[in-house]
Amino acid sequence: MKVVCPVCNKLFEAECTPYKTVYNEIMYYFDTEICQIAFSREPERFIAKCEKK
Ligand SMILES: [Zn+2]
Repeated sequence: MKVVCPVCNKLFEAECTPYKTVYNEIMYYFDTEICQIAFSREPERFIAKCEKK
């Protein structure tokens, strides 16, 4: 499954990364640990542009 890192917008395979976080019942995948940490610090900053409601 191809996913986009919400922090750096890089496309990658979700199965290839150990970095994932559930936030507001949505699973977010990250290409690097750095991106995951950045997201966990300020999730609102990164999900605003990705939300589809
Ligand atoms: Zn990233």
